[in-house]
Amino acid sequence: MSAVAVDPLTPGLLSAVGLDTAEARARGCSRPVRLRGSTRLVDTSTGEATTVYSSERELDGYTYARCGNRRASVCPSCSHEYKGDAWHLLVCGLAGGRGIPDSVAERPCTFVTLTAPSFGPVHGVRDKGPCRARRDKPVCPHGRPLWCNKRHGPDDAQLGTPLCADCYDYTGHVLWQWYAPELWRRFTIALQRQLAKICSLPVAGFRERCRVSYSKVVEFQARGIAHFHVPIRLDGPEGPDGPSTTLPLSTEVLELAVKRAAAATWLDTHPLRDGTTYRLHWGNQIDCRSITGGADRDSDRRARVVHPEQVAAYLAKYLTKTTEDFGLPTRVTSAMQARAVGASRHAVRIIETALEIARQGEPYVRLRDNLATLGYRGHPITKSRAYSVTFGQIRRSRRAFKRNPGLDPDADIRQVLDDDSDVPEGFELVSSWVFAGQGYLSLDQAAAAVLSAAQSRTR
Ligand SMILES: [Zn+2]
Ligand SMILES: [Zn+2]
Ligand SMILES: [Zn+2]
Repeated sequence: MSAVAVDPLTPGLLSAVGLDTAEARARGCSRPVRLRGSTRLVDTSTGEATTVYSSERELDGYTYARCGNRRASVCPSCSHEYKGDAWHLLVCGLAGGRGIPDSVAERPCTFVTLTAPSFGPVHGVRDKGPCRARRDKPVCPHGRPLWCNKRHGPDDAQLGTPLCADCYDYTGHVLWQWYAPELWRRFTIALQRQLAKICSLPVAGFRERCRVSYSKVVEFQARGIAHFHVPIRLDGPEGPDGPSTTLPLSTEVLELAVKRAAAATWLDTHPLRDGTTYRLHWGNQIDCRSITGGADRDSDRRARVVHPEQVAAYLAKYLTKTTEDFGLPTRVTSAMQARAVGASRHAVRIIETALEIARQGEPYVRLRDNLATLGYRGHPITKSRAYSVTFGQIRRSRRAFKRNPGLDPDADIRQVLDDDSDVPEGFELVSSWVFAGQGYLSLDQAAAAVLSAAQSRTR
């Protein structure tokens, strides 16, 4: 169980006084993981072991590890921590810090947003004027208006819902969502091809001299479809730590290549049972905004030039949201369940369509496992190799900093992690943990646990 992130040292020291509650030990996590086990210091020459920390020392005999869930609706405390970690990861990649050199900020870098195409008119917020003003007031074949004179507020339940649900192409919508990770993969290949072409190099030759680094964050639009926000940076062949690329590439050139690559990316879906296939591509709105440390931190959301910290803050916010806005729980098994928990009519229709496509067999069967994300199967954040520091490094360094408050907060976290000065020479820390459940115990259960822990200590 060494994969579970537990701080082996501090909880034991604190609870030695016997005062901290389970909540204090889990630092306010809503549903922590309960573990039993210990960390021992082992003499590598003799094999002799001393227990440094054991869950037996806790009042109730359990070690509480934070759940680490990024969803604010599941655990506000862990979600908050996750958001902070994501912010650090993104900012270090954009502006340097925690061991990523500051010079990354001077490299060609743009903030790209890739959207899905339209699958039918939906209610939306316009900059000026009403939702869909049409003088001729047309109606669809079902007799429903294809116009809307409302000015929807940001919390209007109608936002993102189709003007006519029967005209809306739900099959196209679900297929696009399902294939979005593959469309992204093809985009990354196309981007390298376009950049190589601009430099008049073969792709292999381009890769020897330049590396495309990125970190991609998914946001669900009001209409329930993923779109991608991606800071893309051009590094030298060794990534952020090595020298810059020697190729004559600028942010403008990168943005040109992004637009060309997005326009050139498409894929044909596996045929549905009736033989139909869809040709999928990106939406027409391909937005590139140059990222530079010289930009105004408080500039408008739509500014052409943005500050790295602004970009990191947007992205960290998207990460903790996922599909919660559609009233969906973490796990959805049927359209009926989604309806019962109060999901919108539009979300239920998407789930019904996803289930219908899943019933058609491979390669769509796994759509059933992705209903809670409306058919999206990718991760909320993915990054190219060596874009920045990683979540794992940030989490582990937090434990290192907690054990040793004297550490420089701006230190290279990769060096902090290598530093095992806590462990004497010739010794090794060995941990073993067993999962004992999740969540806090009820008062009765806690009392019983305290009693049995006390008994086992006296034995
Ligand atoms: Zn938690
Ligand atoms: Zn409207
Ligand atoms: Zn219609």
